[in-house]
Amino acid sequence: MDSNILNNLKLTKVAASKIDTFDFENVKFGEKFTDHMLVCEYKNGEWGTLEIKPYAPITLDPSARVFHYGQAIFEGMKAYKEENNDIWMFRPDQNFERFNKSAIRLAMPAIDETRFIGGLKELIKVEKEWVRKGLGNSLYIRPFMIATESGVIASPSNEFLFCILLSPAKSYYAGKIKVQIADYYSRAANGGIGAAKAAGNYSAQFYPTKLAQEAGFNQVIWTDSNHTHLEEAGTMNVFFRINDTLFTAPTSDRILDGVTRKSLIQLGESLGYDIKIESVQVDTILNAAKNGTLKEIFGAGTAAVVNQIEGFSYKDQYYQLPEMADEESYALQLKNALTKLQNKLADDPFNWTVKI
Ligand SMILES: *Cc1c(COP(=O)(O)O)cnc(C)c1O
Repeated sequence: MDSNILNNLKLTKVAASKIDTFDFENVKFGEKFTDHMLVCEYKNGEWGTLEIKPYAPITLDPSARVFHYGQAIFEGMKAYKEENNDIWMFRPDQNFERFNKSAIRLAMPAIDETRFIGGLKELIKVEKEWVRKGLGNSLYIRPFMIATESGVIASPSNEFLFCILLSPAKSYYAGKIKVQIADYYSRAANGGIGAAKAAGNYSAQFYPTKLAQEAGFNQVIWTDSNHTHLEEAGTMNVFFRINDTLFTAPTSDRILDGVTRKSLIQLGESLGYDIKIESVQVDTILNAAKNGTLKEIFGAGTAAVVNQIEGFSYKDQYYQLPEMADEESYALQLKNALTKLQNKLADDPFNWTVKI
């Protein structure tokens, strides 16, 4: 960490916090934000001063490249408060590294660790009252970068804005979801930007996901370019349990390298699960569903941690997964183990949690 950068951080506080009127119990995920945000501008080939200032709209030229060419990336991470009021981040190094990988793929400048992780720590210190204790409470962290240079010129911007927003989050039981296996649309392309956390990957998903929702499903399970292998579940990585073996696809340039995915793999191995990092064929899942060996499917990502899937459709045929007692479920065992570790309610043998 470069202490000069942090010493020069400019802090402007709100006149009055809105925390007293904030409904922590009923807040919807991602809808409301804390009092302050962190911003930093990139100009003339370098990152400038870090600034923490009141959460407010940003003003951009209407021709700013982000509006026309979608040069935009983001991250999603969480912080947790322990009973003794210590605040912990979960594997922030992983998000920092991934942010810079995304930046490079989108022809954006990498950012240094001091501005990303150091700046985030300073922001969370300012907003420490917004992090609530107890299992299920967390602070969702949304770093992002956009191209701000003006001009409808189809070339990379030379100016960028880095920003971090914080949003109090309460875990809720969303229930099991139903998914549709993609047999026409794709979220990513070979050699494309699927492995980057790029805004455009999300807009590419909205329309096919809307069609799936109109057909009664919550999400799409994305497949490879031939629609023969399973890749991701909506905006989550996906795991399949056949008998007692857990499968998840290896990451690739089409699949996002999720922090939750890699953490669950390590946790599962430490719990003695048989885990195979292998690409799973659609046919394998259909056969396993038919012969009763397909036990569970679940998505994994920072927001929901684990999302159980109760059934899926493929080419208009619906397959319902068998009922299973909660304590038998790998999805719930893993979710429980990971959320306890994140909330400091269990040991952290992997040293994943980082104190602020
Ligand atoms: C963010 C994201 C994930 C999950 O990554 P985590 O680091 O676990 O939050 C999975 N798939 C896609 C497409 C994503 O954008």
